Amino acid sequence: MDKKLKSKSLCKWKKEDVKQNGEELIDILSHSKFFCEKCLRSSRLKGTLCKPEKLDRMVE
Ligand SMILES: [Zn+2]
Repeated sequence: MDKKLKSKSLCKWKKEDVKQNGEELIDILSHSKFFCEKCLRSSRLKGTLCKPEKLDRMVE
């Protein structure tokens, strides 16, 4: 993955980023363990969300 994108919050990805990094996006989104409380996006990498919250907290 693009190093710049990896350090970039997933919440801030633009349409172009999604287009160019579709596979990476799917990789990040699959098996999501966290979600962003602010933007309601999900990710398996905590660092890619601006306000990450653990998903399993919602299950209980
Ligand atoms: Zn966010």
